[in-house]
Amino acid sequence: MNKQTIKGIVLKGKKVIVRVDFNVPIEKGRITDDRRISASLPTIQYVLSQGASKVVLMSHLGRPKGAGFEPEFSLKPVAARLEKLIGEEILFLDDCIGPAVKDAIVKSSQRVVLLENLRFHKEEELNAPAFAKELASLADIYVNDAFGTAHRAHASTAGITACLPSVAGFLIEKELEFLGNAVNSPKRPLSVILGGAKVSDKIELIKNLIPKADSILIGGGMAYTFLKAKGINVGNSKLEKDKVGMAGELMEQAKKAGVEFALTIDFVITQSFTSDDCKISDVIADGWESLDIGPKTREYFKKILSKAKTVVWNGPLGVFERDAYAQGTRDIAVYLASLSGVAVIIGGGDSAAAVAKFGLEDKMTHISTGGGASLEFLEGKVLPGIAALNDK
Ligand code: AMP
Repeated sequence: MNKQTIKGIVLKGKKVIVRVDFNVPIEKGRITDDRRISASLPTIQYVLSQGASKVVLMSHLGRPKGAGFEPEFSLKPVAARLEKLIGEEILFLDDCIGPAVKDAIVKSSQRVVLLENLRFHKEEELNAPAFAKELASLADIYVNDAFGTAHRAHASTAGITACLPSVAGFLIEKELEFLGNAVNSPKRPLSVILGGAKVSDKIELIKNLIPKADSILIGGGMAYTFLKAKGINVGNSKLEKDKVGMAGELMEQAKKAGVEFALTIDFVITQSFTSDDCKISDVIADGWESLDIGPKTREYFKKILSKAKTVVWNGPLGVFERDAYAQGTRDIAVYLASLSGVAVIIGGGDSAAAVAKFGLEDKMTHISTGGGASLEFLEGKVLPGIAALNDK
């Protein structure tokens, strides 16, 4: 990585402000998945072990209106969970800027401080320089370890870097290493599995991956726009009519580049999206829609994947949230989990949720903590939160 990391900076005696991604799911005040909190521990523990005088943590949670405190978006439950995970008392403050916050940090006996939700201030998402300066005034060094928001130019991810020495934490370093190696210097062959609802969300991704991948396998709702472009009947399946031409062009580009482009060849079809009453079929008749890849497609995909040395997967292959249509996604996930000597990289968001649902997280090489951020990175875009960090 061409950016400085916490390993390359003196932390002893310094106050260090770390942008973490504590945007965890909370139901009725209880955190239902704390992986994003535990993913930040290596950075927090390293900063403490290097003798930093304070670690000030800041994050957003959900989408408050930016007009002050809203109880359902408070980071207070996160403070309690973090305290348990790091095994020491932390100080939770009810705001993220202002003289009272600054004063409390200086006077606190605790080494770790968590600030209240950044997005209670609209200036955070507006990347307002005065707000960024206020955040920066709380510390001597800035660390960005929030990969999930690295694709956003906000005060806590971009603006603050104008005021402090700014370096990457371990989580960002790890994400860039795994995602970057997977697409820029993969062990070949590189297979890319794409699924999810819409082809329009993945056009840039496919364009960027065609020159890099050896094979691209398409399932999920996005497959039907490609099948339509090949003149195949898709019934009532998910279809983006205005993208049929583009889908045809992408397949043409892949062919020219010598990339194997594999589409769904059989289907799990139903007459109503809300019904679990379904059957396996080689065709999609009018009045039917396909909500998962069929068994022939699963075998076809596995055959291609058996040659791969690197696999990047973004997007579920069917409506995996419902058991009737989860088999395709599950079967491919189980197959990938069984491979040895193959780097399997799971993009964030729904693909990560699917792997977690099937209990296969430990079996994958890397599961990204960023949905939108990993997608933008794989599209070849510059992530503002990374670009703003000090170069090596
Ligand atoms: P995305 O946010 O683009 O990754 O899409 C994920 C969503 O796509 C999931 O909620 C799936 O239920 C949905 N999905 C996957 N396959 C299909 C399909 N064949 N038809 C409709 N929706 C699908």
